[in-house]
Amino acid sequence: MKLERIHPDVHRLEAGVVNLYLVALGEESVLIDSGPPWGAAAVLSALAELGRPPRLAAILLTHHHLDHVGGAAALAERCGAEVLIHEADAAAVEGRELLTPARAGRGQALVERIFAFSDRRLFRYRPTRVRAVGDGFLLRDAFRLVHTPGHTPGHAAWLHLRSGVLFGGDAAMNRGGRLGQPWRLFTIDPEAARRSQRALAALAASLYAFGHGPPVGDAAALARLAEQR
Ligand SMILES: [Zn+2]
Ligand SMILES: [Zn+2]
Repeated sequence: MKLERIHPDVHRLEAGVVNLYLVALGEESVLIDSGPPWGAAAVLSALAELGRPPRLAAILLTHHHLDHVGGAAALAERCGAEVLIHEADAAAVEGRELLTPARAGRGQALVERIFAFSDRRLFRYRPTRVRAVGDGFLLRDAFRLVHTPGHTPGHAAWLHLRSGVLFGGDAAMNRGGRLGQPWRLFTIDPEAARRSQRALAALAASLYAFGHGPPVGDAAALARLAEQR
């Protein structure tokens, strides 16, 4: 676990391959994404390290993939938090749809069966109740949901209004200092993902904090990525 301050109000928590973010909201904390199913302990350690109580005002999810939602059930119970996600990704998190659909061509049915098995049995994903919200939803005048479909149908970025930091989930990935497209196999609609990248670039956030790799401050790089073939 590595905890890094990326803004006076915002910490990035590296939990294995994925980034979670803790944002101060008054005396409370808001968590962006919840990590893999075994990620809850890292969040509790991070809160302790920051000298904050083990409570979360909310858990804001960017999309329904296991590495982003796996810890939500445990953390919601432990920290008394409400879990929010865009309405189009809610059913998967609640266990009513596949958590890891993929674009596997002729191997589609087999790949989906393997992922369904591994999410539930191998990685022990536990569904959790969520509050499903839509584009433009505002949480406590502090976070705005920006619907950015493509990677998943309900993929969403969360803009922290006070800092201008945008939590971009898997709308793009920072791979060793270069922005790249999210993993192909798990990106349901690549063209929609590019449109979402353009929309996020147009927001000109102060910092783009994605789910994988260090944050980037360059909206132009995101705009270029959307056009790269
Ligand atoms: Zn993803
Ligand atoms: Zn991811």
